[in-house]
Amino acid sequence: MRPFAYAAPRTLGQAVEALADGGPGTRVLAGGTTLYDLMKLQIEKPRSVVDISRISELTRITTSGRELVFGAGARMADVAEDPVVRRDYPALSESLWRAASQQLRNMATVGGNLLQRTRCSYFRGGPAFPCNKREPGSGCSAIDGIDRHHALFGASDACIATYPGDWAIALLAFDATVDVVGPDGQRTIELADLHLEPGNTPEREHTLAADEIIVRIRVPKTAAGRGSTYHKIRDRESYAFALTAAAVGLTVSRRGRIEECRIALGGVATRPWRVPAAEQTLIGARLTEDTARRAGEVAFEGAKVGHHNGFRRELGIRTVTDALLIARTRATR
Ligand code: FAD
Ligand code: SF4
Repeated sequence: MRPFAYAAPRTLGQAVEALADGGPGTRVLAGGTTLYDLMKLQIEKPRSVVDISRISELTRITTSGRELVFGAGARMADVAEDPVVRRDYPALSESLWRAASQQLRNMATVGGNLLQRTRCSYFRGGPAFPCNKREPGSGCSAIDGIDRHHALFGASDACIATYPGDWAIALLAFDATVDVVGPDGQRTIELADLHLEPGNTPEREHTLAADEIIVRIRVPKTAAGRGSTYHKIRDRESYAFALTAAAVGLTVSRRGRIEECRIALGGVATRPWRVPAAEQTLIGARLTEDTARRAGEVAFEGAKVGHHNGFRRELGIRTVTDALLIARTRATR
């Protein structure tokens, strides 16, 4: 790891100042579970880091108002365990429970989780493997390499890496927004607009400016929260990234018809991936194994498979199907 300067401000204002003063080579440090990892691998080489973990206002969780509000510095474990989140938004809680390990969740924050970088093994593999995301213009080792974990949606000729996070998928399904602050003040970004597809610039992964800090994440309250789940399929039941995942939320009328339907896919795209066409197939319908499967098939229309990842198309269809059936039991309780 290279030497770097370290600042530990106590207020948000001081943090914004420290980030601006540090210049382009400065990074925000929250739990450090991704940033330090990438620094050790020499993928991130910040000249200085601004540690935001001592800023108490960033850790607040508020569930009593018209929306859920999560301070960016709240720990993954604290949000996952919050009783209101568990009862009224199981998809949000499960997306965190099913991520990483208990030790990591105790340390990592919900803001840092949004900005984690891809787990493409060529990206992390060092200079022996050309990677446009790590070294723009060097090429992509995955396209003709082992692409078992790579994207079925949103890829480009420059990069096919999947977005690895779970939390952002559940947030996307529930129309979350992200408040950020920088030297020019505060602004709000729709979660749907936070992450970028790679296009010709895979090194650019999100729309946050280098001198902006995520302050909080807001989720509008909806009845579909209770009828929700985050269903994640992985190579082992803990401590593994998604092969496929689906965040689903439903409301069902007294006559058994679906009134509201939200579906977002994880583990299969270059960014969190909502599938409105699949949601539409279910509005006004009864949820049966057949209609759930049909929604899964629509969700995966247009999937582009490579050499080793074709099995994840069918796996993804089944993931959506099962997620919808789990959500139905919660929505009709
Ligand atoms: P940091 O490491 O401190 O920061 C991460 C990035 O976000 C950095 O670029 C940092 O500059 C930026 N950042 C942090 N906070 C802010 C902010 N408030 N404003 C602006 N920028 C900010 N994640 C999953 O979703 N699912 C998994 O299954 C999973 N498995 C994992 C397994 C392992 C072994 C490991 C090491 C990680 C795994 N993760 C998984 C990723 C883990 O959840 C993230 O490392 C963690 O959430 C990052 O949060 P952090 O607070 O530690 O962020
Ligand atoms: Fe790099 Fe993206 Fe190719 Fe992986 S898929 S090697 S991250 S350019």
